[in-house]
Amino acid sequence: MKTHILKAHVPKTLGQKILLPTSTAGSLPKPSWLAQPEALWSPWKLQGEELIDGKHDALRVSLQEQQQAGIDIVSDGEQTRQHFVTTFIEHLTGVDFENRKTVKIRDRYDASVPTVIGAVSRPKSVFVEDAKLLRQQTNKPIKWALPGPMTMIDTLYDDHYHSREKLAWEFAKILNQEARELEAVGVDIIQFDEPAFNVFFEEVNDWGIACLERAIEGLKCETAVHICYGYGIKANTDWKKTLGSEWRQYEEAFPKLQKSNIDIISLECHNSHVPMELLELIRGKKVMVGAIDVATDSIETPEEVANTLREALKYVDADKLYPCTNCGMAPLSRDVARGKLRALSAGTEIVRRELSAM
Ligand SMILES: [Zn+2]
Repeated sequence: MKTHILKAHVPKTLGQKILLPTSTAGSLPKPSWLAQPEALWSPWKLQGEELIDGKHDALRVSLQEQQQAGIDIVSDGEQTRQHFVTTFIEHLTGVDFENRKTVKIRDRYDASVPTVIGAVSRPKSVFVEDAKLLRQQTNKPIKWALPGPMTMIDTLYDDHYHSREKLAWEFAKILNQEARELEAVGVDIIQFDEPAFNVFFEEVNDWGIACLERAIEGLKCETAVHICYGYGIKANTDWKKTLGSEWRQYEEAFPKLQKSNIDIISLECHNSHVPMELLELIRGKKVMVGAIDVATDSIETPEEVANTLREALKYVDADKLYPCTNCGMAPLSRDVARGKLRALSAGTEIVRRELSAM
């Protein structure tokens, strides 16, 4: 007689044993029939039903390209959003998109942003239908990116709460509602993008990480936080030039993140001036190591990718290392992005072979 054991739901990432599973930080270029390529905040070229269909088709294409390139943990390539923060905020009440103010984003560049005019809430889910579509298209583990609470407040003018911490806490609660629904439709990893963690160190430690933990409360899927030096746009590359020869920003948030409930930390490494030994500060966490530079069109060789991963392996156990891109690739051309995805896979394969020969 056979004994049947009821299997609890095991997230696919835990169920499968791929060594060094590859993924991307998030966005990928959009097809030119959907939006103007090689730009951020690029307006849609379609409208109404055609736009909805177009976004979904782009999601399918983006998934196909990731799978063909051999990416193990796939995403929607953020094909349904204009911008990684504002598209989420557009779906919330309490924010007036007509009433705009100019603020400095991450203390770096001016942008005209919407105003918080009342209590913020999420009347209905934002990305759940898109996530369902992605889930239907693939058996691979899927990762879904959401903006982090601190990065959200930094993209708005607050004329209601008059407290960055209070507003971030409200967003954390809203993000938690969204994350629970994403988990329920089969998302394996939910990632919060927090580039602001590299800028507002005191706030990160005072309440930023606490807000992030509020956002992941009760989740059983894996959770990640992505902290980078931004897209390869001019304001960011100019800022990077002011940071000197050693970028030690991660040193500020890592000790507290190491003790947090977040499972995975996603970082910028290749071509950055981040000293690799800082990874020692998050020993024990899974680390998505950026082995692809998103601020240049030159495509990494597999050997360059392998070198970054070998360097990271000095500080991250092999079973916890997830090769990744430094940031999203939305502003790159599709050709370059495809080349970089293939390089990520090929470079990872080199290191896998080395590890299995040991
Ligand atoms: Zn990033």
